[in-house]
Amino acid sequence: MKLADIYTKETKVWVPDDALVWRSASLVDGYKDNDDVIKIIVEAIEEEEVLGHSKDLPPLRNPDILVGENDLTSLSYLHEPAVLYNLQTRFVERNAIYTYCGIVLVAINPYSELSIYSNDFIQLYSGRNLGEMDPHIFAIAEEAFNQMSRDDKNQSIIVTGESGAGKTVSAKYTMRYFATVGGSGDESTVEQKVLASNPIMEAIGNAKTTRNDNSSRFGKYIQIGFSGRYHIIGAHMRTYLLEKSRVISQGMDERNYHIFYQLCACAHLPQFKPLKLMSARDFEYTRNGDCTQIDGVNDESEFKETIHAFTLLGVSSKHQSLVFRLLSAILHMGNINIEENGNGHSHCSDSDEHLITMCGLLGVEPKQMAQWLCYKKLRTMAEVLITPLTHDQALVSRDALAKHMYSKLFDWIVRKVNAALSTTAEQHSFIGVLDIYGFETFENNSFEQFCINYANEKLQQQFCQHVFKLEQEEYVREEIEWKFIDFYDNQPCIALIENKLGILDLLNDECRMPKGSDQSWADKLYDRHLKTSKHFDKIKISNTSFFITHFADKVRYEIEGFLEKNKDTVQEEQLNILKASQFELIGELFAEESVDRDVEVTAGVGKRGAAKVKLSHASSKPTSVRKKKETKKTVANQFQESLAQLMGILNSTTPHYVRCIKPNDYKLSFTFEAKRAVQQLRACGVLETVRISAAGYPSRWSYTEFIARYRVLMSTKDIVKKDPRKTCEKVLKTLIPEEDKYQPGKNKIFFRAGQVAYLEKLRANKL
Ligand code: ADP
Ligand code: MG
Repeated sequence: MKLADIYTKETKVWVPDDALVWRSASLVDGYKDNDDVIKIIVEAIEEEEVLGHSKDLPPLRNPDILVGENDLTSLSYLHEPAVLYNLQTRFVERNAIYTYCGIVLVAINPYSELSIYSNDFIQLYSGRNLGEMDPHIFAIAEEAFNQMSRDDKNQSIIVTGESGAGKTVSAKYTMRYFATVGGSGDESTVEQKVLASNPIMEAIGNAKTTRNDNSSRFGKYIQIGFSGRYHIIGAHMRTYLLEKSRVISQGMDERNYHIFYQLCACAHLPQFKPLKLMSARDFEYTRNGDCTQIDGVNDESEFKETIHAFTLLGVSSKHQSLVFRLLSAILHMGNINIEENGNGHSHCSDSDEHLITMCGLLGVEPKQMAQWLCYKKLRTMAEVLITPLTHDQALVSRDALAKHMYSKLFDWIVRKVNAALSTTAEQHSFIGVLDIYGFETFENNSFEQFCINYANEKLQQQFCQHVFKLEQEEYVREEIEWKFIDFYDNQPCIALIENKLGILDLLNDECRMPKGSDQSWADKLYDRHLKTSKHFDKIKISNTSFFITHFADKVRYEIEGFLEKNKDTVQEEQLNILKASQFELIGELFAEESVDRDVEVTAGVGKRGAAKVKLSHASSKPTSVRKKKETKKTVANQFQESLAQLMGILNSTTPHYVRCIKPNDYKLSFTFEAKRAVQQLRACGVLETVRISAAGYPSRWSYTEFIARYRVLMSTKDIVKKDPRKTCEKVLKTLIPEEDKYQPGKNKIFFRAGQVAYLEKLRANKL
């Protein structure tokens, strides 16, 4: 067809708009090939406008009948405005927060309580095929559960999105779904225990930020283990990159981790008297964001829930009181008065009331602690020097210890939770749920954003490889008709970050040098990468930052602080004091050996070999076994390792993707700001998926698999002996009249979206 036949008078189109991203309009006259301007009427304002020179004609609007389709890939015209408008219509007019985009579930945060999560809804989705029901997080959970049993394969649900988009809520709903459909029915409390891990992790790992009152400040992958009868038998959790800096300081209007406020809210209870707690307003570490309360949250009753969850998981009261003791010690530590004496050195009195309380709680000597808060030991080849710290250095070193204590405690609690969720029963397979921060770009981006965005590059690559590469490669292999579609391969950006002499490698090297600095690291980066990498850049006039062109956006990172954050050093003398605590448990907590050791949990590989990955230590040995005395790992080293391990696990499973979208920045109920939404759709690959899914065949079966599954739909005369392909073609001619809905390949038969659901329905009717 010629363009003039498509763009006729009054044709409805989309035109770009600064505020709304796209506006609907219609053509005043039909388009003629030599036109270089087009006259349009913008619908909302009913005014005529002229569209200037543009290589491309405006995108076409879909016929009204398709508006509100529940799978974006089934739209007739597929482009950004169509996707955006369709999501908006469903969300605003129908309050439908879920929409499919091929294999991806798009979930828009309603900021409003919906009645679609009851147990009745779980029952409604249980046992159903994906296409049969309205899009829902339960449908994705069901799909994973179903494929685990149907294909005998481990599954993953990967939830991403920006802060406040609804990741944690979505992840919790999938867990509740599994707990319900995978409940064993007897009095077992395994499911309850798995769910009880949520309030604990939120208490110690979530905090109020300006974006989200309950923002997760760590990433989490929880593997839920199932028996051969698909009952939940246990779980194992891995966590990623806890934001430690929050323990000592918070941005304006933000809080520290919930658990601190919960504890302070219960200071008056008799059992907490020995902790000498005060109000959260009185502790330095809980008050520096000038916000100690969250609207609608009662910290005291939240604390009861936290304790209830601990108890449900079998964490003894002895261990619980260790937790509270450590938390209180951290709070008191922040209030220790470190003064500056006349000669620029720091001083801390060993009769400081907070120092004494802190040391009492930890079972250590206040005198020693007072000394090592203000001095440090320097070991050279020849001698040991003890040097005084300046006031600033002393504060930094105290804060470093506080962060270290909290992160040790966090890891210890994760191990306790894992121990409680472990089981000796044989695990047949698992479903993993990943709840991890999406791509981040702030005014000021530092090491933390760098790590997060690196993780998102890896996840994006995994997603691309799954959706795009595998698809295309398979079509080629199967020799079916298929048009190649370019997709954005982010490997060059990943290589820039993680290859030899890449950003991370140079950073780690710099950290090992006695005189290493942020600046000399940055200079090496400029030297090495400015000319050679398309993804690396800097501003001419500034040497204090660099740019990385990520798949989602170009981000400017400020170099200051990268080295310190990556080294994450704590003074050894301070640590030695803790290790020598009169309380055995505290000594153990800070002893090196306990650091990285995971609790070994259910190890059995299913009889049918389904669970190729164990619940713990999926692809590598425990770090503590592998290395005895090597140089301390940097934060980046550790993160890179755990990320590689995560990618290994994800790649061994069948992935399911949930993309959470935050529709506005004001927590307004059912309010859709196109500008905010489109940024996120671009950043998470939804728009790419639309293009590829529409052109492709999302479902596929080998011929023999197909016959085995749908034998009930065939009569004996359909069967062509020793030729499964012919058999399938013969049967499908009658089952699916539209020829473009499937394509027979060399070894497999390919179906358009929705066809398998249709066949399943026919099959169910016959059974
Ligand atoms: P994220 O983990 O992506 O940062 P959360 O899952 O914590 O975001 O969600 C932030 C807030 O948004 C929640 O506390 C809740 O108020 C609201 N929210 C998210 N998802 C839903 C939902 N499906 N229904 C109702 N409210 C939701
Ligand atoms: Mg979260």
